[in-house]
Amino acid sequence: MFDLRQRLEARRAAGRQRFRRLTDGPVGPLQRVDGREILTFCSNDYLGLASHPEIAESLRRATRIYGTGSGSAHLINGHTRAHHALEEALAEFTGRPRALLFSTGYMANLGTVGALLSRGDSLIEDRLNHASLIDAGTLSGAKRLRYAHGDAEAADLQLARAAGNCLLVTDGVFSMDGDLAPLPALAEAAQAHGAWLMVDDAHGIGVLGPGGRGSLSHFGLGLTEAPVLMGTLGKAIGTAGAFVAGDEDLIEYLIGAARTYLFTTAMPAAIAEATRTALGLVVREDWRRERLQQLIAQLRAGASALDLELMPSATPIQPLRIGDSARALAAAETLWAQGILVPAIRPPTVAEGQARLRITLSAAHEPAHIDRLLDALATIRTPQ
Ligand SMILES: *Cc1c(COP(=O)(O)O)cnc(C)c1O
Repeated sequence: MFDLRQRLEARRAAGRQRFRRLTDGPVGPLQRVDGREILTFCSNDYLGLASHPEIAESLRRATRIYGTGSGSAHLINGHTRAHHALEEALAEFTGRPRALLFSTGYMANLGTVGALLSRGDSLIEDRLNHASLIDAGTLSGAKRLRYAHGDAEAADLQLARAAGNCLLVTDGVFSMDGDLAPLPALAEAAQAHGAWLMVDDAHGIGVLGPGGRGSLSHFGLGLTEAPVLMGTLGKAIGTAGAFVAGDEDLIEYLIGAARTYLFTTAMPAAIAEATRTALGLVVREDWRRERLQQLIAQLRAGASALDLELMPSATPIQPLRIGDSARALAAAETLWAQGILVPAIRPPTVAEGQARLRITLSAAHEPAHIDRLLDALATIRTPQ
């Protein structure tokens, strides 16, 4: 039978057992974690909107109108005017004809890839794509062809070997590295082979491009170059859920074919209303993106002065590669002892020998917070 004890022992012995810290109060730079006041550099709340009073008020107001639960799937009677208005706002935000809401980014990826591909088709993926895209490929039954991280030429070679309907899918910004995918070159390769490009922009939406419209917009690419755009709402947007944006046919098709859309309860309408309020702030408040860029520059200059080499990244994800898992854990412990939370990311989340501290910044951080982080980083040792 299931020998879970033994599996757990093995995982502990390999230093891979995970644990959770208990937090109180809203997400923010200063947060109560395990009962202590901690300075955090780990959330994906890049714009500092996850505890914004205007968004919270919007949620409360909508709860009085719609209640808490949506009661059913979108195709039964769970699709409220609030959900519909958010879809329209997301379509306008992304400059695409239509958008479709999903309950999470994980589900959006599973549902969309699964609806587009089946046996005999091909999914071409960056090696470092998010786990949900890897799982989406497995579930779809399509042939999976992976290419070296960020390598559009390697993607082109895989496209040449692909059969059936071909979907090239990539993270816009890589969640554990912070670098951007070479979207213009990938789009070109996809078009040359008659494939579609799908971009998972979980970490680009809100952060990159004019008005925070994401990594495609950052590169000036649109519907023609990338017919499928997936974005999440629980990171920079500060609420919960996800969306897929594309043309009329794509969305109409997904409504009837994406199983993670069909067979799940619609997100609460109040979340949709709060998200619409958040989207307004995302577009209007350029200062949040400007502040982020200043903080990123401050961190990178400070780390460089300490001879700490951050991974190449222009986004709020600023990892410090350590290599060995035990050393990464020890480094995180050293920071934790100084009241700073930076997670050690280890295999299987990243490849063997690629353990790192994943530092993430938010527009809610202050320059003094970065100084404190740099002081603490000066006390850890990294391999040369
Ligand atoms: C977080 C994330 C997801 C999943 O989104 P959720 O809404 O958290 O389920 C998908 N793709 C990438 C690249 C992500 O970082």
